[in-house]
Amino acid sequence: MVLNSSYLVGNSPVWGEVDPITTTGSKRGKVIEIPADIRDQMVEHALAAVPNEACGLLAGSDGRVERFYPMRNADESQTTYRLDPREQFRVFNEIEGKGWELSGIFHSHTHTEAYPSETDRQQAFYPDAHYVLVSLADPSSPSVRAFTIVDGVIQEQEARIA
Ligand SMILES: [Zn+2]
Repeated sequence: MVLNSSYLVGNSPVWGEVDPITTTGSKRGKVIEIPADIRDQMVEHALAAVPNEACGLLAGSDGRVERFYPMRNADESQTTYRLDPREQFRVFNEIEGKGWELSGIFHSHTHTEAYPSETDRQQAFYPDAHYVLVSLADPSSPSVRAFTIVDGVIQEQEARIA
């Protein structure tokens, strides 16, 4: 997919010139494989951000995540998230430099289930990416779920912790 840094990730408006995003659909309906240590990194980042939501990006290839980029929630909010635009630009450059793809957009919910909120649905600008959510609603057992959001339609995808 094309990494277009004029699409900010998170609950923020689109700015700048918007290029068409490649929507091959090749990844749709496929599992996202998340190594257990990366799952643990996401949970740790989510816990560290409490009481706010945490966010970040996942990069990899062929549906398997190779790297988690914990990022700052520019909203500093308990109910929304937004990547810092400069951080997002830097990470997108690194992902492209390594020949990876943006495999997931991560954020946490502190008290609600790991399911996209109405705001998450409306602000989903990456039809090719998995939206990976961690819920801390049950702190003893954080849940991890993955979704695609295409034209406002949320579909759960299998998140395989491997
Ligand atoms: Zn959310």
